[in-house]
Amino acid sequence: MAAPAISGHATPPFRTEPLYVQKGLIIVAQQFASDNYAGICPEVWDVMQQANAGSVPAYGDDEWTNRASDSFRTLFGTQCEVFFAFNGTAANSLALASLCQSYNSVICSSFAHVETDECGAPEFFSNGSKLLVARTDHAKLFPEDIRALATCRSDIHYPKPKVVTITQPTETGEVYSLAEIRAIADTCRELGLRLHMDGARFANACAALGCTPAEMTWQAGVDVLCFGGTKNGMAVGEAILFFDPALAEGFDYRCKQAGQLASKMRFISAPWVGLLESGAWLRNGQHGNDSARALAERITAVPGLSLMFPAQANAVFLKAPETVLEGLRERGWRFYTFIGGGARFMFAWDAAPERVAQLAADIEALAA
Ligand SMILES: *Cc1c(COP(=O)(O)O)cnc(C)c1O
Repeated sequence: MAAPAISGHATPPFRTEPLYVQKGLIIVAQQFASDNYAGICPEVWDVMQQANAGSVPAYGDDEWTNRASDSFRTLFGTQCEVFFAFNGTAANSLALASLCQSYNSVICSSFAHVETDECGAPEFFSNGSKLLVARTDHAKLFPEDIRALATCRSDIHYPKPKVVTITQPTETGEVYSLAEIRAIADTCRELGLRLHMDGARFANACAALGCTPAEMTWQAGVDVLCFGGTKNGMAVGEAILFFDPALAEGFDYRCKQAGQLASKMRFISAPWVGLLESGAWLRNGQHGNDSARALAERITAVPGLSLMFPAQANAVFLKAPETVLEGLRERGWRFYTFIGGGARFMFAWDAAPERVAQLAADIEALAA
């Protein structure tokens, strides 16, 4: 089967060998190329079945959507405004667009998903707000990166900086500490910038830091959060949280105009009830992190192998000789090498410990 071409991602020669065929279903071995290879977690599946009963009002005017929004407000301990979008590209792009005029700019890392993997959607939905990219060799943004881009020019010819976006955890699987987020937020306040957080794997960051969602966001100075549901165990869906309700003005129209208002909204809002009220959101994040740590520990013990980045969330970036990577491909493992040439492995709620152990054993055997 041909692998899908993914913009910016070097596509390896993927091979999918069916393990067995059962009742007409082709069962293939679990892969860790991405955390969105995973299916829907049981808590979400269960609540979707409940939401499927009967008929309810459309376009979000229903009890499931109210309850999901209230679950967010309870979890975050604040009266935030909550919106639902189909995916992270839409959530990020619309959130950033809502914070900008077309002549404004958004400061981000050169590793940021908004820069590398959203096909220009942030610029498109903001009618031209430019991304100002910090050209550093690390995925985290630091106050000095922000200050440099925000203060290097102040003339009319430069797109006026208005927002900073950080990814928590980063695209390289690293986690900003609360102190780092607060320092960024302080810099933003001082420079008159808003702070947006791309939390496609927000749950993994909460699990990694052992902090509350409030501590990592509004209490640290984050204005708007995109909270990822898809990689956390949903089929589809991200939530956009505005901690300052004034910033949410007109956002419902923005979602509708961008094709992000689900008519059968309950099927993208009820899943959040399943994740948040059961605590599955955090358990799922923790499981992904634990799986990554299990693999990382085995890798670091092998001479000749190393981690490209510290495995602080649910990602492992393996740096290994090309012979090892090719050997892994031959053994049927799928992975991307689009960040720095190493092999990326990502773990979701469903990562099977035996399969993680098998990957580790294959890596060890190839490196020996
Ligand atoms: C997966 C991901 C997103 C969302 O991607 P979509 O494919 O648009 O859902 C956003 N940011 C980061 C860092 C991601 O990894």
